[in-house]
Amino acid sequence: MKERVTLRNRDFQGSSDSVSDNRSTKTTVPLISNFVSGDRVSGLGSEHDVFDPSTGEVTGSVAFSTIADVNAAVSAAKTAFKKWADVPPIRRARILNRALALMNEHKVGLAAKITSEHGKTLSDALGEVERGIDVVEYACGIPHLLQGRFSEQVSTDMDNWTTRHPLGVVAGITPFNFPVMVPAWMWPIAIAAGNTFVLKPSPIDPSPSLLIAEILREAGLPDGVFNVVQGDKTAVDALLLNPDVMAVSFVGSTPIARYIYEAGARNGKRVQALGGAKNHMVVMPDVDRDKVVDALMGAAYGSAGERCMATSVAILVGNVADDIVDLLRERANALKVGSGLDGETEMGPIVTATARGRIINHIDTGVAEGADLLVDGRGMANDSQGGFYLGPTLFDNVDVDMMIYREEIFGPVLCCVRVDSLDAAIDVVNGHEFGNGASIFTDSGGAARRFSREVQVGMVGINVPIPVPMAWHGFGGWKKSIFGDMHVYGEEGVRFYTSQKSIMQRWLIGQTGADFSMPVSR
Ligand code: NAD
Repeated sequence: MKERVTLRNRDFQGSSDSVSDNRSTKTTVPLISNFVSGDRVSGLGSEHDVFDPSTGEVTGSVAFSTIADVNAAVSAAKTAFKKWADVPPIRRARILNRALALMNEHKVGLAAKITSEHGKTLSDALGEVERGIDVVEYACGIPHLLQGRFSEQVSTDMDNWTTRHPLGVVAGITPFNFPVMVPAWMWPIAIAAGNTFVLKPSPIDPSPSLLIAEILREAGLPDGVFNVVQGDKTAVDALLLNPDVMAVSFVGSTPIARYIYEAGARNGKRVQALGGAKNHMVVMPDVDRDKVVDALMGAAYGSAGERCMATSVAILVGNVADDIVDLLRERANALKVGSGLDGETEMGPIVTATARGRIINHIDTGVAEGADLLVDGRGMANDSQGGFYLGPTLFDNVDVDMMIYREEIFGPVLCCVRVDSLDAAIDVVNGHEFGNGASIFTDSGGAARRFSREVQVGMVGINVPIPVPMAWHGFGGWKKSIFGDMHVYGEEGVRFYTSQKSIMQRWLIGQTGADFSMPVSR
């Protein structure tokens, strides 16, 4: 029988390495725990290795949560909700303001922890932290965001107004690719609005969530308002089945998003579930070739293509194709691949050996399907060097019927599709089952306007390769890139985490007699 271990440290530790566990006998690496009611508490499920993708070494062991561990976290969050929901929004915002300052202070530590478990370059990780901080900043305006609307004299001597109310315990289930930013799409707004939060991060890079938990504790957030449960399917299913979880936000792959949406809705929960993507960049013949290739290189190979907004398809219109493909080949062959901590590195390793194997299978498929493999990243997948490295890969003459076009690869693989016209380019984008993001590169205002109006995706870039909306605009795709009605963060985030109440009021001055007809404005 394993023993539950509780560690408490009121100081921000800046690293999860300080967690140790006397049950962890098989290895000396630190144990990565849950965070419940202001304490680090080890889950009692199985332990799983956490790797440094740049070396392939095991750097930690994450203790998965049992159903009982998850239920204990939800119960702590439910207890905390009673008081937290009553704290005036401006006082909740002040705590978030302190968290904002601490996140800025510990930005580099947070980014380094992301790089150590995810593998992305430190500068990319810093950008991720900054985009998460944006949402905290937005949530600091919660007194304004929660304001209701008031209509005076909707009928004689009667007023009508609306207010917004927190839901209770809400859960977030997040992917490996943005271990700080994606949770921050959820928790700042959820807790600012008066909910309490249970985060289930990816088991691939579970440590940054604990750093955020410590920052929030240091900022003065009451115990139980923000909790972390580590694990995988067992923990997720426990959240989906727990009747005290009122809403679930999910970000991850499409099959799991669909599952979360259906199971959550079946269990009476509000659900927003963001799924996978295949993002297209349309390149018109009027563009500056070098500038477009700069944009394509960063958007396709930045973060090793492991971004839900990565460009994985370039649609090359007309006579621009040969120039772009030649430049891409040259640049991809020269791309610097290495450890994310090396300042020269442009692309870090793949997150796990399993993910790398999956991407290699896709490349094999592309070759078998007859696409032209211009740059082959498989040569870099050499275990003797340590680390889960894979080079950038470039396919030309990809057909929309091919699997490498249809499926999300989620790696550094760029597919070029050649078409004759803007019409054909829009048809290609709209024919895909995913609808996350798409961009167009052109000098023509008319082409850009048409594209942005007609393209069936949730986020559009005009000469912007990765159009991730700012914190106050909300993020989300269309079609199979989202299940649920509301986008994450921004105004829709505030709506997702609150229920509207409408109040009609009059003071009984002069009214007489019962009225049996439908009340109307008088
Ligand atoms: P994933 O779907 O494997 O995992 C996401 C979360 O679901 C993790 O917390 C994981 O533990 C959990 N999970 C995994 N299998 C589960 C199961 N069978 N039942 C219940 N829960 C389960 O995704 P990932 O590999 O971590 O992340 C990459 C995917 O996320 C890509 O498809 C990418 O496009 C997508 N993504 C989408 C967005 C977006 O905003 N649309 C943003 C980031 C990532």
